[in-house]
Formats: sequence, C-alpha cells, structure tokens
Amino acid sequence: MNKTILKCVDLARSYSDGKSVIDVLRGVNLDVEPGEMVAVVGSSGSGKSTLLHLLAGLDMPTNGKVYLHDRCLHDMSEDEKCHARNRSLGFIYQFHHLLPEFSALENVGMPLLIRGEEPSHIIERASDLLEQVGLKDRMEHRLGALSGGERQRVAIARALAPDPACILADEPTGNLDPQNAERVLELFFNLQKKQRTSVVMVTHDATIANRADRIFRIVNGGLVSI
Ligand code: ADP
Ligand code: MG
Repeated sequence: MNKTILKCVDLARSYSDGKSVIDVLRGVNLDVEPGEMVAVVGSSGSGKSTLLHLLAGLDMPTNGKVYLHDRCLHDMSEDEKCHARNRSLGFIYQFHHLLPEFSALENVGMPLLIRGEEPSHIIERASDLLEQVGLKDRMEHRLGALSGGERQRVAIARALAPDPACILADEPTGNLDPQNAERVLELFFNLQKKQRTSVVMVTHDATIANRADRIFRIVNGGLVSI
C-alpha cells in the first residue's frame, strides 16, 4: 500500500453567485506523507480555508479528487466519509470550536467518547495530553473559564487525542498574541513530532510557515513550492 496519507489531484473549486464565477482553486496537487508538516500560505481570500475544507471532505470540488489513505473521498457515502474522517483526521481552527460548558478534560475526551472508547482509557489519554500541553492544573475548568491561549492548547490536545494520521489546521494561532502563539505552536510541533502526525497548516504568517518541512503558496489558485 502507498504510504501517502492525504493526496489531492487537479483539485479545483469555483464559486458562482449567479452572475459571475470565481475560480478559487484551479488545479491543486499535493501529497502529504506520514509525519510531515506542510504549510500553505497565501493572502486573505486566496483559498486556504477552501483547500482545507476540500481535503477534509467537508466540501465538494468542482473538479479533481482527494484521496485519504488511497481511497477517494468523493466515492464514499456520507457515513463512510464521517467514519474515515473520525478515524484519520484531526482539526484545529482559528476559533477553537470547543464546548464552553464542558471541562477541558471532557472537551479533549469527546472525540474518543464518540468513537466508543472505554471511559477509563479516555480519562487517561485526555489527562496525559492536557498535562503535556501544560494544563495539568486546569483539567476540571470549564472551557469558558480559560484564557485564549489555554483554550487553543485544549484544542491541540483534542485534535491529537484520537492519534489521527493527519491534522488539518486553519490559522491555528490566528487569534493569539505573538508570544502566546509561539508557545502554543511549540507545544503543537513537539507533540506532532512525537506522535508522527502529518499536518497541513494554512496560515497567512510566513514565520509560522517557516517551521514546516515544506511550504507552498497559493498563487492564482495553484500551489507553488517556496
Ligand atoms: P482564505 O482562507 O485564504 O482567506 P477562503 O478559502 O475562505 O480564503 O476563500 C477564498 C475565496 O472564495 C474568497 O474570495 C471567498 O469569498 C470565496 N468563497 C469562500 N467560500 C465561499 C462560498 N461558500 N460561496 C462563495 N464564495 C466563497
Ligand atoms: Mg481562511
């Protein structure tokens, strides 16, 4: 079996508002190998989030294909796609999408609960990750009671908890001040290396992108290696 985790071929996405058509992506090709971090940079509106949504199977391309572990996402039923996503992919967003009324521990354990794992295993795994992101003393805190940087560290722990093959990160530190962003990224990179998780991270920040193994820029709807 080919070891490539995520692959897209000639991926294109256009949007139409009824009058005109904008070609946001016009033939993107990318292979994501095990354990590597790929950064995609581009100005606001260049199509970074569109690309991540397509890679996650959350949006349909106008043309081209996405393969997750050699299987074409668009040939799967909704159920199969949800299952594949839950098994293999993790997500980190700019605004963390965590549950404010639940504790840090519950938020991190949620993907494992959805998978039907043993409660004792869930607690062990979630506590271990929270400790690794420096939140040992905050496990029982409600998300609503944590700072922005702390919440983003919870989001990282949650994304890594099910040990996904690949994490898709959309401007993961976009709403943090530079010092907090640096701290959060450092934790993320260390854990990602330790778990050998692949990452596709989109960002408009070139200094963040420089930490990746490979960097691409979206130019006129295509990826250019930089
Ligand atoms: P980025 O994440 O790089 O800032 P996006 O991928 O969000 O950019 O958007 C790329 C372009 O596609 C923008 O011009 C945006 O307005 C357009 N776009 C994104 N989603 C939609 C949509 N659902 N309908 C119409 N246009 C969209
Ligand atoms: Mg975006």
